[in-house]
Amino acid sequence: MTQGRNLRDLMRARLPAKVFNRLEDAGRLAQQSGVAAFVVGGLVRDLLLGHATIDVDIAVEGDGMAFARRLADRQGAALKIFERFATAYVVFPDRMKFDIASTRAGQPARLGAGNEGAWSAPAGESCPIGQDLMRRDFTINALAIHLNAGRFGQLLDPSEGLRDLRGRTLRAVYDSSFTDDPTRVYRAIRFERRFGFTIKRRTLRLLKEAVANRLPHRLPGHRVKNELMLLLAEPDPARTIRRLSALNLLHPIHPALQLTPRLTTLLAGLANALEWWRRRFPDRKPDRPLASFMALTAGLSAPAVNALMKRLVLPEGQADKVRTVTRRLESTRRRLHKDRPLTPSQTYRLLLGLPDEGLILLVAEAPSARIKRLLSAYLTAYQPTRLALSGKTLASMGLKSGPIYKAILDRVLDAKLDGTVTTTREERELAQRLVKKVAV
Ligand code: ATP
Ligand code: MG
Repeated sequence: MTQGRNLRDLMRARLPAKVFNRLEDAGRLAQQSGVAAFVVGGLVRDLLLGHATIDVDIAVEGDGMAFARRLADRQGAALKIFERFATAYVVFPDRMKFDIASTRAGQPARLGAGNEGAWSAPAGESCPIGQDLMRRDFTINALAIHLNAGRFGQLLDPSEGLRDLRGRTLRAVYDSSFTDDPTRVYRAIRFERRFGFTIKRRTLRLLKEAVANRLPHRLPGHRVKNELMLLLAEPDPARTIRRLSALNLLHPIHPALQLTPRLTTLLAGLANALEWWRRRFPDRKPDRPLASFMALTAGLSAPAVNALMKRLVLPEGQADKVRTVTRRLESTRRRLHKDRPLTPSQTYRLLLGLPDEGLILLVAEAPSARIKRLLSAYLTAYQPTRLALSGKTLASMGLKSGPIYKAILDRVLDAKLDGTVTTTREERELAQRLVKKVAV
């Protein structure tokens, strides 16, 4: 095993002091407790690449849960333990989180074995760290740093991950990696895209074999969803989707997903639309992966989109937004592009209830100055319009309750948006006229 290089100085220089101190303290505790603790995975990789990470994953040779308990105790941190997987979170008072797991050998529970979204095998005997690292996905993720006092900072690199990091290559740790866990085909694209690394020839061949054998098709939907959303959260989703398409990785997500010319144009427009939005509404942060997901599914029929969301187990909040956009995008676009200008109230009624991601898609489809102006007006000038008038006022005018209340309040709101009424008094007068009309 390549070993010995000490990263202590690098850690001190690159990690926030708080993280460094807590890692050092964890190492002292490990030494006192007679276990060995290591920081593993993304943090080590990112440290060596010079990227900032704050996700701390700790692997413990020995009873990791007992270690997590003691660490939480002495740091005044909260603790959440998942016995079944022998993993735990330690959450510090400032909300920083350490993930702690006992080292383990063996591969992830086979597909469909109730493996809840994790690649972690069910809890078993803790094993030497070297074995734990060798069952990970890619060599650049199979690095660890010893934390124990006395060995703090020592790098462990059993699969020559450092060499791959330097060569900017992505290599599977072992040959049946994609068979053991097909989510790794998506993870491969995530790291390839994020770091601009090249997937090694052999690894790429294994990946393609796994795809040809339809292994990604068998993944449980929620795991595909996690991977897809993480992929779409990376910069340049248009390129990511092109890459997925080239490797036949869209099909396992849904057979109807295809990189059509329309989708290519839409994705290019989406990047610009998101950029416009960020500058125009810096405080309104859209769900960017969801916006890309909407673009991806824009060419699908409503039933296909519903089936896909069901398979992926998209959270209800996101699914709701997608459904709204699927239902309304096309007709909204058509009305926006009519020659006759829309009044403020018409714009308001047309766009009301569309999620921000849907508005962004409208710009992505047709990035004209006119559409941007309309959306801006809708989101700024037409937004916080509140009436002085209320249902109570209508009741005091003797109006019997019913759907007519909403109809009248809407009419008054429209008038206010269009500037035909401005004062409270005018609101009341208009309402009064409308109530009278109903009464006759
Ligand atoms: P990111 O920076 O996107 O969080 P990461 O490498 O930290 O990337 P995580 O999903 O946070 O990835 O997982 C942490 C570590 O756990 C990885 O570095 C890798 O060693 C291991 N790991 C995670 N998922 C898998 C998997 N499906 N198969 C094998 N190893 C995995
Ligand atoms: Mg991570």
